[in-house]
Amino acid sequence: MRKYIFFSIILVFTTAINAQNYSNEQRPKLVVGIIVDQMRYDYLIRFYDKYGEGGFKRLMNEGFNCENAHFNYIPTYTAVGHASIYTGTTPSSHGIIDNNWYDKFLKKSVYCVDDASYKTVGAEEGGEKSPHRLLTTTITDELQLAQNFQGKTISVSIKDRSAILSAGHTANGAYWFQGASVGKFITSTYYMEELPKWVKKFNESGRAKKYLKKKWKTFYDIDTYTESIDDDNSFEKPFKGEETPTFPYDLSKLAEDNGNYDIIKATPFGNSIVMDFAKAAIDAEELGKDKYTDFLAISFSSTDYIGHQFGVDSKEVEDTYIRLDKDLEVFLNYLDEKVGVNNYTLFLTSDHAAVQVPAYLLSKKIPSGYIDNNDFKGFIIDITKKHFNSDALIESYSNSQLFLDKAKIRELNLETHKVARVLADEIINYKSVWKTVTAEALQNDNFKDDVLNNLQNGYNQRLSGDVFIIHNPGVISYHKTGSTHGSGFNYDTHIPIIFYGKGIKKGISKTYIPITDIAPTLANLLYVAFPNGNSGKIIEKALK
Ligand code: ZN
Ligand code: ZN
Ligand code: ZN
Repeated sequence: MRKYIFFSIILVFTTAINAQNYSNEQRPKLVVGIIVDQMRYDYLIRFYDKYGEGGFKRLMNEGFNCENAHFNYIPTYTAVGHASIYTGTTPSSHGIIDNNWYDKFLKKSVYCVDDASYKTVGAEEGGEKSPHRLLTTTITDELQLAQNFQGKTISVSIKDRSAILSAGHTANGAYWFQGASVGKFITSTYYMEELPKWVKKFNESGRAKKYLKKKWKTFYDIDTYTESIDDDNSFEKPFKGEETPTFPYDLSKLAEDNGNYDIIKATPFGNSIVMDFAKAAIDAEELGKDKYTDFLAISFSSTDYIGHQFGVDSKEVEDTYIRLDKDLEVFLNYLDEKVGVNNYTLFLTSDHAAVQVPAYLLSKKIPSGYIDNNDFKGFIIDITKKHFNSDALIESYSNSQLFLDKAKIRELNLETHKVARVLADEIINYKSVWKTVTAEALQNDNFKDDVLNNLQNGYNQRLSGDVFIIHNPGVISYHKTGSTHGSGFNYDTHIPIIFYGKGIKKGISKTYIPITDIAPTLANLLYVAFPNGNSGKIIEKALK
């Protein structure tokens, strides 16, 4: 009996110490999700000395910085990245297996957010979109459900897929930038029948036109940009109508040859206009003002367009991050003022990183290169001819996957698994191929190896192909200028994850953290249910 009382006292005592206040009022008033498209982790470090105190450095030094955060699936593309960050799971569950993919049921290529059942709002076209291919819920959906739809989710990006997939299925608004001759933020009838007044006002303010008249010069003296290679080099692609890929870029002169408003996307001003729009959203939608938690999802796409055009090591990329840092500082100050220093929680991450331009790597004797797709396809067809006496067994070759023609295989009395195995065994003999894996192996084996495990996480049993090909590190299917991404190698997977603000501990982590851990960490912080397909874990050390 005495023992029992003793333990009871201990129990009461420890419960009191650990008492946790689960009141909904403990939630931050606003969550801000920032995705910087194509941001490598090392950009935080490489340009650190160039950053001011109030942007990236403020988040790194006052927030929780995950130094070893990675995408844990293949392929590392924009749509997949945004979907995985917000759902806490990988393409195997959420169903966004690429930006575009071959749909074996429809027998055609589909775009991740295209949806003909909806119409464009705010322009003639560009808005027939929805998240209907996203199969699982997002953290933004779960926050809506938990608060009985009394909070707000607003999302903005230059790219439609980035805005839509962050917003989840239940957003109050998702807006993206329509370039070409339009120069406006638009949406889809999936969300609303008409643009809100504040969006119309923003579009009519002449903001886009103002940026279109700008000259893109380096923010600091270009001679101080010692972290990047010469401005003029053969690894960058000049704008149309220019001889060299060099500063300054006069947008009013270049616009006509480079898609009018589209040119804004490939300059730091694309980030600035998204930031302007995000600020307008905070004001007009009164985000973070009432007792329900709102969610503002922002995705900066210009970093990606610039990386694709000029490459990881360019002066253009360096300048873009220096300028984004300035925009970020202004934005953080804005949040402090409008929402209050202790009222918001923010995370900053990326949707994938990028490879250094292979032509540049080759010039430095680092193994890398380019795939000749016609030659490679010919090699594959020769295999099917040699083994099965047919050149019609491959229905589609896309995204480094072979989709076999099941009807043809039956017609020839062959077996899909056997054809796939022969192809995998033979394709490995192609000069730049690193690994080949069949769908059968992905279903039956459990890969521990990082890259093969990434392939497995990216494999969707219903949607994916029959044979998977991974080329050597640094070998890509792309033109010889600029950077791209898509692989499961470190240069494409290693990205920043920084948490900051209410409920977040100051600190760093050096342990491997998969991208899928962001959503459950937020779910825990917000006291809401995990997204329904979640496969991530709570990053405990980041939370108070
Ligand atoms: Zn991207
Ligand atoms: Zn340049
Ligand atoms: Zn990209």
